[in-house]
Amino acid sequence: MKVIAVNAGSSSLKFQLLQMPEEIELASGIVERIGKSDAIFQMKFNGEKHKLVLEILNHKDAADIVIKNLLDYGVIKDLKEINGVGHRIVQGGETFKDSVLVTDEVIKQISDLSDLAPLHNPANVTGILSFKEVLNEVPHVAVFDTTFHQTMEPINYLYATPYEWYENHKVRKYGFHGTSHQYVSHRAAEILNNPKAKIVVAHIGNGASLSAVKDLKSVNTSMGLTPLDGLPMGTRSGAIDPAILGYIAKKENMSLEEVLEALNKKSGYLGVSGLSNDSRDLEEAIKQGHERAKLAIDLQVKSIVNYIAQYYVELGGLDAICFTAGIGENASDFREQIVEKLAPLGVILDKEANKLRGERLISTPESKVKVFIIPTNEEVMIARDVLRVGFQA
Ligand code: ADP
Repeated sequence: MKVIAVNAGSSSLKFQLLQMPEEIELASGIVERIGKSDAIFQMKFNGEKHKLVLEILNHKDAADIVIKNLLDYGVIKDLKEINGVGHRIVQGGETFKDSVLVTDEVIKQISDLSDLAPLHNPANVTGILSFKEVLNEVPHVAVFDTTFHQTMEPINYLYATPYEWYENHKVRKYGFHGTSHQYVSHRAAEILNNPKAKIVVAHIGNGASLSAVKDLKSVNTSMGLTPLDGLPMGTRSGAIDPAILGYIAKKENMSLEEVLEALNKKSGYLGVSGLSNDSRDLEEAIKQGHERAKLAIDLQVKSIVNYIAQYYVELGGLDAICFTAGIGENASDFREQIVEKLAPLGVILDKEANKLRGERLISTPESKVKVFIIPTNEEVMIARDVLRVGFQA
């Protein structure tokens, strides 16, 4: 059967069509600049890339364009070949402890969580409604970024803020990138042949978060109420003294929203280096002796090392550390910097293996903790849940 995984943002829509249960990617792509007359549709199919620039006014048009192109390029011959749709939803709050079949009630519940994720949940709902119009006879399943972390205990999800903030407004840590943390940690447990393994997953892309996983369950994670918490990222600051918000608002005559925008969009690699949010640009600049580019990377490396050390203690030791996502999978110097700092935990990098790509062990046989590169695959996780939840008896 064929399943389409959809990830709808405010002005973009990513999709992947998969053959299931074989987990084979048939086609994937993205619609960008939705709402503009020069929107971009891109699709990879059969090793070829296709690109169109055209007017796409809304998400419904974007869904139509995706389906039209899947038909035009012969990826599918008939709409009926698509048996299910999986939707990536950012915030499931405490409402959703697992992926769920989409009903009108579920759509309302996802909308009701918009206060917690104002940039994401409304766009996710638009994605669901658009694809439901085009593919209304097949199961649609909502897969949340947060559900994998719903196994965290209060000691790990509560902030030490007034308790009423939690009771009345659900102020707590939720964690994100859940499908990735789940996919990678479960794969590591499979490689180790140990479902009880103690694992840290370092998902380092433009957005970045770490998780501590034991018995295949998330015990702790670095992101919080929103994805701004945790380690410094491409454009996000990560955790900072919250008093900075009021101080900078006053000094720079900015509103709270503007300060938050700067912490989300102008901080991290971009903010510290003053150059770019892309790790490849910073690596180049470091070679030319750019000190702030080095500082930007060093700040993130230090934070990652601190989280791994924290999780090592929390889990009572570690069986594996897994690197994943754009930077985690590709930046070997970056991984080397992190693992070298973990020497006090008896972690030893195999420097030659670390230069390679793809799923592999990159620690030496003597290392007390195994280190892996495990490429993430959020779309496969979503498609698996469409099968598990959308077709259960
Ligand atoms: P997101 O899904 O959060 O947008 P990704 O996981 O796709 O992020 O990661 C994007 C980042 O990965 C880019 O900003 C870039 O810095 C980094 N990246 C991608 N490829 C490489 C590479 N070959 N070497 C180093 N960094 C890379």
